[in-house]
Amino acid sequence: MKARTLPFYFLFLISSSSVIIAKKPTIISILGTGYVGLVTGTSFANIHDPKDFHIICADIEKEKIEKLKKGIIPIYEPGLSELVVHNMHRGTLSFSSNIPSVIAQSDVIFIAVGTPTNQQGQVDLHFYEKAIEMIIDNAKNSPIVIIKSTTPIGTCKQTAQLLSRHSCTLASNPEFLREGTALNDFMNPDRIIIGTDSDTAKAMVLSLHQPLLDKGTPVVSTDVTTAETIKYCSNNFLALKLSYINEIAHLCDKTGANICAVSYGVGLDKRINHSYLQPGPGFGGSCLPKDSLGLLATAQKFQVPLLTIAAAVKANAEQQIRPFKKLMSVFDGNLKGKTIAILGLSFKANTDDVRYSSAIPIIQKLLDQGAIIKAYDPVGMQNMQKIFNSITYTSSAYEALHDSDALMILTEWQQFQDIDLAKVAHIMRSKIIIDARNCLPLDLVKQHGFIYRGIGKNI
Ligand code: NAD
Repeated sequence: MKARTLPFYFLFLISSSSVIIAKKPTIISILGTGYVGLVTGTSFANIHDPKDFHIICADIEKEKIEKLKKGIIPIYEPGLSELVVHNMHRGTLSFSSNIPSVIAQSDVIFIAVGTPTNQQGQVDLHFYEKAIEMIIDNAKNSPIVIIKSTTPIGTCKQTAQLLSRHSCTLASNPEFLREGTALNDFMNPDRIIIGTDSDTAKAMVLSLHQPLLDKGTPVVSTDVTTAETIKYCSNNFLALKLSYINEIAHLCDKTGANICAVSYGVGLDKRINHSYLQPGPGFGGSCLPKDSLGLLATAQKFQVPLLTIAAAVKANAEQQIRPFKKLMSVFDGNLKGKTIAILGLSFKANTDDVRYSSAIPIIQKLLDQGAIIKAYDPVGMQNMQKIFNSITYTSSAYEALHDSDALMILTEWQQFQDIDLAKVAHIMRSKIIIDARNCLPLDLVKQHGFIYRGIGKNI
């Protein structure tokens, strides 16, 4: 790699007598065009001028990139499709699966590859390590490497040392967006975390976020290890909060208290607040489950017991199958041959992501009991088909409900909250509802004579 030459200018010779210095846009590439990479790349493309920055979203999955080049978005994220197309036309955004070539032309490289959990419960860094290896092998402009992926505490420090031997600098810039509201979260973050000991890298992260800084977004500038810790600490705090309210909901099931009122009353305390205080079928998705296991693995490495996080993980595993247990008890432990309509497969509403969705252990348990499953989700069925291909997927909620013995609502999609309960009562074989999201209106549920089990809210 040759030494970095800043700033990025080149000369246009207009005539023999005049020379105009034109600014070449800084090339920003994003390795990994998934939920985080695509939103990050598209948002940067949208807030910057094509004269200043050009963003290349790159991915090893060729099919994904070919679709994106045609404006077809591989994930469900409200508003993203329009923004991708708009910025491709503006000339600030492009896509490529030729990773070596993308790296070679990049001045800044974001890493947004997946960091899933392996079978031993540790973070699987093979995508991340491969991306770093590709940067070392192909970089030509001594790029600034910015880590968006959630990496185990200590990883970035090691990577920074490795990259410094190849004239690259590193910053950790963890991401906090939530699927379903990702664009809004990215554009209105609660804070921007920059972990680096390089002034150049810090200046680049600040410059890329300038329009957000202009809105007054706080910046926390720190070292890489602290930045990684902030990310894990935030996600694990949310996991704790959710497991806590889920356990209190279980207690409400026994005492007769109403968890919705409890949660509301507790959340009014400004020290606590309402966010992540709604009970449900356990936390899922690509972040909280894997980041709680990731933090536990790091703590184990340093021989620091994290008793609270271990308890949250254990409570969550129990919570994820609690709706199934409620159904079992309604049917006196015998689900053989019963047709169960499942509404909602994604781990929450407004995403097609089914990673760690509670629907997975619940469907497995139902199948183990000999139940017949008819499932519907507005956008999550394709992903769930890769996990369960032998259950029936229907084209509407009502089709799933037709002649079913029970309904389980696992995701709080608005269309399920608005479902016509009179029609549901008419088309189901028996009127049993397990509402794992507490999202149905109880007065109508009662009016139509359903047997109803919520989470901490039975009637
Ligand atoms: P994802 O699985 O949706 O996308 C990752 C993409 O990286 C895939 O498309 C994969 O093909 C691609 N990839 C793998 N290796 C590559 C390489 N060498 N070069 C180019 N592309 C490569 O993952 P995600 O959900 O976007 O998460 C990415 C990271 O961000 C993870 O570390 C995650 O923990 C973190 N994160 C996720 C969220 C979220 O809500 N999904 C939020 C904050 C942080």
